[in-house]
Amino acid sequence: MINDPAILTGMVLSGAHGIYDVHTNEGVVRCTLRGKLKRAFAQAYSAKPVTKFRQPQHRVNKVVSSIQDSRSQRIEKRDSSEITLPTRLSIGDYVKIRKLDASTGLIEEILPRQSELARRDADSSGHKLVQQTLLANLDQVVIVLATTQPEPHFGFLDRYLAICESAQLTPLVCINKLDLSHHSRIEEEAALYCRLGYKVIFTSTQTGEGIDQLHTLLEEHTSLFTGPSGVGKSSLVNALEPGMTLRTDVVSSATGKGRHTTTGSQLYPLSGGGWLADSAGIRALAAWDIPLEDLTWCFVEFRPYLGECIYSDCSHVDEEGCMIIQAVGDQIIDEHRYRSYVRMYTGEER
Ligand code: GDP
Ligand code: ZN
Repeated sequence: MINDPAILTGMVLSGAHGIYDVHTNEGVVRCTLRGKLKRAFAQAYSAKPVTKFRQPQHRVNKVVSSIQDSRSQRIEKRDSSEITLPTRLSIGDYVKIRKLDASTGLIEEILPRQSELARRDADSSGHKLVQQTLLANLDQVVIVLATTQPEPHFGFLDRYLAICESAQLTPLVCINKLDLSHHSRIEEEAALYCRLGYKVIFTSTQTGEGIDQLHTLLEEHTSLFTGPSGVGKSSLVNALEPGMTLRTDVVSSATGKGRHTTTGSQLYPLSGGGWLADSAGIRALAAWDIPLEDLTWCFVEFRPYLGECIYSDCSHVDEEGCMIIQAVGDQIIDEHRYRSYVRMYTGEER
């Protein structure tokens, strides 16, 4: 199979009603599933209505090695019991296809997933919960804020950074509208996130500043743009790829085979390599639910203190002997970041 010239590796860009557009180095190929795969999916789907979020294994290792308390055992237990095998093909999956002619083919094999953005849904009978993967192999989230108009809301940033930590996605912080303001407060805020280890870039779609850098950072990644309305997400996508709009309902220009309404997410190839997810992916990310017991871990600067508080089940909100609260008092942990944690913990911002 390896030397068979009709076999290509590609990525699923979109799909509806069993027909998938697969991006390959020979262009986009419209594919159906091989009967064998279809049957395997049908079987797995009916036999396994399991339905929990899959947590990547390497994440578990990291947690276990950084904390040695009962919490780590809980996480280990929960994670290992919740790993599920894909029961369906999803947008973002890498596949092997067999070309039938210049523009059509059969999907022969699905390659292992690195990550998946999933949500739980009731099945058609309404009785069972099933996991629906909305996007596979997403690996980067561009969190966009503006220097002004609207004013940057760092609580929003903290929430999305925590979601990225929870979902194992690399965040990239993009502060747009650099042409409108060079406020030193924003630079100070940006420096805080850099110290935490996050990449922060400044852009302007008006002057073009930072756009090349952003383009480079998207290469070879499957990325998703998120951010409050009006910060310039559409303008950035347009500056990166003129004419590209991220919609879920498009005429497939790649194959010219008519209207192709997707039910789930859709990916768009970038000219420099890499893919962008559309608004369905953005909604899936926004709905990501961080288990409360994982929230502390999702604030990276809290990790050294996990397991150090007097109470082993410390929520770090108001307990005595809390090492995180002490670190905030000692100005080792930034107070605004801590406030974001408390808001998320208490459900004010979740
Ligand atoms: P979205 O809601 O995040 O997709 O934001 P849009 O891309 O629709 O942009 C909102 C408004 O901000 C529009 O009027 C854009 O022209 C404007 N805008 C976007 N990027 C910039 C920028 O870098 N500088 C300035 N001055 N305006 C921008
Ligand atoms: Zn504590």
